[in-house]
Amino acid sequence: MKITSIKGFADILPGEVEIWQFIEEKAREVFGVYNFSEIRIPIVEKTELFSRSLGETTDIVEKEMYTFTDQDAKESRLTLRPEGTAGVVRAYVESEMYQVEPVRKLFYSGPMFRRERPQKGRQRQFYQIGAEVLGRADALVDAELLLLLSDFFRRIGLEGVTLELNSLGCVQCRPAYREKLLAFLRERADRLCENCRRRMERNPLRVLDCKEPSCIEATRDAPSILDYLCEACREHFNIVQELLRQSDVAYKLNPRMVRGLDYYCRTTFEWTSTQLGAQNAVAAGGRYDGLVADLGGPPTPGVGFAMGMERLVLLLSMRELRQAPRPALFLVWVGDAGRAWAFPTAHRLRLRGVSVEMEGERKSLKSQMRRADKLRARNVIIVGDEELGKGIAVLRDMDSKEQRELRLEGLEDELVRRLEAPA
Ligand code: ATP
Ligand code: MG
Repeated sequence: MKITSIKGFADILPGEVEIWQFIEEKAREVFGVYNFSEIRIPIVEKTELFSRSLGETTDIVEKEMYTFTDQDAKESRLTLRPEGTAGVVRAYVESEMYQVEPVRKLFYSGPMFRRERPQKGRQRQFYQIGAEVLGRADALVDAELLLLLSDFFRRIGLEGVTLELNSLGCVQCRPAYREKLLAFLRERADRLCENCRRRMERNPLRVLDCKEPSCIEATRDAPSILDYLCEACREHFNIVQELLRQSDVAYKLNPRMVRGLDYYCRTTFEWTSTQLGAQNAVAAGGRYDGLVADLGGPPTPGVGFAMGMERLVLLLSMRELRQAPRPALFLVWVGDAGRAWAFPTAHRLRLRGVSVEMEGERKSLKSQMRRADKLRARNVIIVGDEELGKGIAVLRDMDSKEQRELRLEGLEDELVRRLEAPA
């Protein structure tokens, strides 16, 4: 019986996984440079963590969460995390990280789960790399996060991404905008989709985020949040923009970009690519100054982002990263004595960090050489009765085709020395 995987839950196989590793490696590098520490949080959390922080009327909480009742936790419903920020903030509050040092720069990576319609660049289990800065309210750190992302995109060689920027204001100035927008929407309610008519009273900003053509059309001339920012929010947003300009990071203002989650305030952003089709956002985030307090911590500002791994992989997979790792050495053995020599030698070389491969069954020299070729081994060592008799082994450089005899005595040291530099 053949058992298949679930729709929206994909395998990441060798041949593709190398691109994932490349992205993860570069992300670690860049987080190191910007002084972020890694945090690892659970995949399962109490459902209320997400409904409280993301907001009851968000798409995620309304219909996309994988929620279940655990046998051991009869009263508490559990959910596979749909995003990382809520868990990171919960951990910050729960471990009282702020007691030791309130300012924390944290990054995470791992799978997230949302019951969405699977399509190109959209899975039900998908992977994010994200970062959160807690304890800093200044505009410099917003700009720093955006520079980090632009730096990261450059490191992985990603081109053609655009930064869209907006400010959602704060608890002081957003209510006035909300009323203005609501009045605007009420006049046009008959042209909105059913979903938007339903949620418009509770969450009018979300209508600007709707992808229905009728809603986009009906809200074309909607009032802009940027015209309603209070003095402090305007100042904050101006500094972010000025710092981006100073660092030559191009951006475009998008006052319709309200983001899908309730916790955002002030700076919000999305990096999009034209090469991705409908699912065009590769990274997104923003400021969430109220969230730590909402989740029971002391009032602490926060700002962060998450990148979608699948979409980064799609963008990079057009490039030359699909190569499987190349063994540094393939041991070709002939005869029982050859095998008896090769197996422990391979083990000792591996212990010293050399990647070694060898055949396990008796095969002809020619067939072993073909196998070494196929694996793209950089070098081959050939040992048979004749070589063992003479106390030598033949080393062949598979790229230059050069061959030389090496003495078996001291061979391992010699190989480690020669093969040291991994390409
Ligand atoms: P989108 O509008 O593309 O659905 P979003 O606003 O729901 O994105 P966020 O919650 O901000 O996304 O997550 C940040 C990033 O995670 C997105 O920009 C995207 O790259 C990625 N992402 C979100 N949902 C998915 C998914 N279902 N499959 C793959 N990647 C996803
Ligand atoms: Mg979404």
